[in-house]
Amino acid sequence: MNEATYVTRPLMPSIEEYCEEIRSIWDVRWLTNMGAKHQQLESELEKYMEVPRVGLVVNGHMALEIALQALNIKGEVITTPFTFVSTTHAISRSGAKPVFCDICEDDYTIDTSMIERLISDKTEAIMPVHVYGNVCKVDEIEKIAKEHGLKVIYDAAHAFGVKYKGKDVAGYGDASCYSFHATKVFNTIEGGAICTNNTELYESVLRIRDFGIKSDDDVTDIGTNAKMNEFSAAMGICNLRHFQDAIMHRKEIYTLYCEKLSLIPGIRINKIQDNVESNYAYYPIVIDPILYGHNREELMEYLKGKNIYTRKYFYPIISKMPCYSACYSCENTPIAEKISESVLTLPIYDSLDLDTADYICALISEYKD
Ligand SMILES: *Cc1c(COP(=O)(O)O)cnc(C)c1O
Repeated sequence: MNEATYVTRPLMPSIEEYCEEIRSIWDVRWLTNMGAKHQQLESELEKYMEVPRVGLVVNGHMALEIALQALNIKGEVITTPFTFVSTTHAISRSGAKPVFCDICEDDYTIDTSMIERLISDKTEAIMPVHVYGNVCKVDEIEKIAKEHGLKVIYDAAHAFGVKYKGKDVAGYGDASCYSFHATKVFNTIEGGAICTNNTELYESVLRIRDFGIKSDDDVTDIGTNAKMNEFSAAMGICNLRHFQDAIMHRKEIYTLYCEKLSLIPGIRINKIQDNVESNYAYYPIVIDPILYGHNREELMEYLKGKNIYTRKYFYPIISKMPCYSACYSCENTPIAEKISESVLTLPIYDSLDLDTADYICALISEYKD
């Protein structure tokens, strides 16, 4: 195998399909500001995600920042340090304070048994992350939030198309924020969305993403510019047609990885949770260096030598990043710290062939000491 294999490749329609989709943009000369493509994608997603309101935005990060602003969160927000930096940055940039809770060892989502001890009189919200598309303990979180009068904003950047008990997870919390970045299971090149059941919150999102403009003569919020353009929306319309097929192929890869890798001592695989229909977005493995005979870094280098590019996703833990380390330690989040030091995500995407996945399993198996 001489060709390099990367951890992901974006889902793309054929160039003919995309050209056909964008043709009408030339006819109407409407490039952005909630044009026809934008409206079409929003309504298709509302149906697909089974949620009353979907507000498209320019990326997943702005989805988080706008949700926080729309809910006026300025105090403490309980979240986890095992996520992409965007989650923590969004809280900090909103003027609120991230408070780190540990994660569960089995699915890497927030450990709900530890949330309540972190609640103070300044706590205003919880921002849990559906890490790798694994669903947070949504019922527990809802119960805690209700009891303590807290808002819940899900970082659902990994969870597009994931269902819990037969229903899309987009409807949980006060808002669920998605990323449609090129590297995510469903992409609009760059893009994101805020999903909500709350009409008032939705209207606030619409204003904030467009400079706070309520109507021609009325600016009511200190908003930003986070509008999705027509070319991105057109990409989303095309990709949505192929999403189900892409998931089916990912599932084949996922199943093959599970079968082969679960046989290797020291390699822990990610199990699909009960009652969850996965989107097979990522394939994380956790390496026990004692049982496996090599640590995560060594396995990563070995695979790289064979032209297989994996990723330490998420490493380093956010508490140790220079921009946060002065204010945080890992004392209360030992599991998050341990996982971040031993996790590796393997290549998985819709156009990855099964032979390559099989070859990757063989390499991991033969490297074991
Ligand atoms: C990708 C991602 C984001 C940010 O999304 P962008 O579209 O890249 O801005 C936020 N949170 C998590 C967990 C992500 O993986």
